[in-house]
Amino acid sequence: MNKHNADEQVIVDVIVVGGGPAGLFAATDLAHSGLSVILLDHPRLSPRQPARTWLSPLAMELFQEAHLPLEGTILQPVQDCYFFSHDLARMIKPQLPAARPSLIDSAGQKKKMVAALLATRVGQYDAEYDVQRITLGEEQVTLLDKSRRQYRGRLLLLATSFGHPLVQSVGLAASQSNQHGLQSAQLEFEAPVFAESGRMDYFLGLGNAAGFGYRLARDGGITLGVCVAAPPVKIQELLQQLADRLVQKQLLPANWRNHLPDAKMHWSPAGLCLEMESHIAKRTMLIGEAGGFVAAYTNESFFPGIWSAKIAGQVIREALGSTHPQDKLRYYEQLWRTQMADYLRPPHSDAQSLLPLVFGNQQIADKLFLAMHSGINF
Ligand SMILES: Cc1cc2nc3c(=O)[nH]c(=O)nc-3n(C[C@H](O)[C@H](O)[C@H](O)COP(=O)(O)OP(=O)(O)OC[C@H]3O[C@@H](n4cnc5c(N)ncnc54)[C@H](O)[C@@H]3O)c2cc1C
Repeated sequence: MNKHNADEQVIVDVIVVGGGPAGLFAATDLAHSGLSVILLDHPRLSPRQPARTWLSPLAMELFQEAHLPLEGTILQPVQDCYFFSHDLARMIKPQLPAARPSLIDSAGQKKKMVAALLATRVGQYDAEYDVQRITLGEEQVTLLDKSRRQYRGRLLLLATSFGHPLVQSVGLAASQSNQHGLQSAQLEFEAPVFAESGRMDYFLGLGNAAGFGYRLARDGGITLGVCVAAPPVKIQELLQQLADRLVQKQLLPANWRNHLPDAKMHWSPAGLCLEMESHIAKRTMLIGEAGGFVAAYTNESFFPGIWSAKIAGQVIREALGSTHPQDKLRYYEQLWRTQMADYLRPPHSDAQSLLPLVFGNQQIADKLFLAMHSGINF
């Protein structure tokens, strides 16, 4: 970790703000290609991150392509999956593809990425920099924190959260529409030898047609969650109803309520990147949740976040070699819209009419699993 004194100035090719998955991927990827990068982050400002995160096989491919480290952070690939109706009355077992989604250790993965960034020697990480002000100049972007430490960069990547004040301060207003925005609640707790490890259950149609709950039995514990477009109070209610039904079916230990206060809530700007007019300001781009890069149906955000970071990296490499970088930045909008839009938008099929078919048609059940874990629209 790099420490800098007050009033010291650091000048780099690219400044990345936000050390979540999107910012980490972008910073490390850019530094690997020889650009000087500083990643600015502040633990106090992190949302309540889960200890474990789902990663689709597609996300793992992106890490491999970019030669970024994942080894040692994968905890558990899915071994088995069951779809249940939300009332647990119906069930079907989708066939799993050869490439399985996996659960990873979020904090361990962050440590690995930071180490990989620092190992490039052109990458720096400031873990205690609370960005207060951004000034977008013709030639440079300048960032200032409370202690007046200054960072200057030729380009800026913002990887904070959706609608963050810094995003607004560079003139990139987020859509106020919460139409597709999903709320989720997740609970992780230890329940030794309770169920077969690696088994993933989905409870479809929870709260509304597109809503779902999930339960993963992992080594030593259970992860339980719900994901629905509904207010937080309703989400908590749905989580409790689901958990009580699972206790009756012996899919959850009866003492789960002891862990309820630890449930983590998360509002997700699902699909909202499609509604944003622009992701580009002067010498600046938005990636990850800051740009609303979250899949509308499945709420997956890690993969779209790092995907947007990868595309931004391609554009930046070209822009920095050009005499008119700002003109090159415009390609970002074009590239992500052509490559990612289908993945991000709500399903082509009407989830409401599809749901009853899932339990009577193996092929539809298999397709739904692919849609939920590989982003294949249906
Ligand atoms: C309980 C829970 C479970 C989840 N499960 C999954 C899952 O299984 N799969 C999945 O794909 N997603 C999951 N998510 C969502 C996923 O964690 C987020 O979508 C993802 O972290 C977003 O990544 P990001 O890089 O865009 O931004 P973030 O991870 O939100 O990172 C933003 C960073 O910006 C920093 N920051 C903010 N303001 C400033 C500032 N002024 N100065 C400096 N730094 C600043 C913050 O400290 C933070 O580190 C889950 C979320 C929660 C809460």
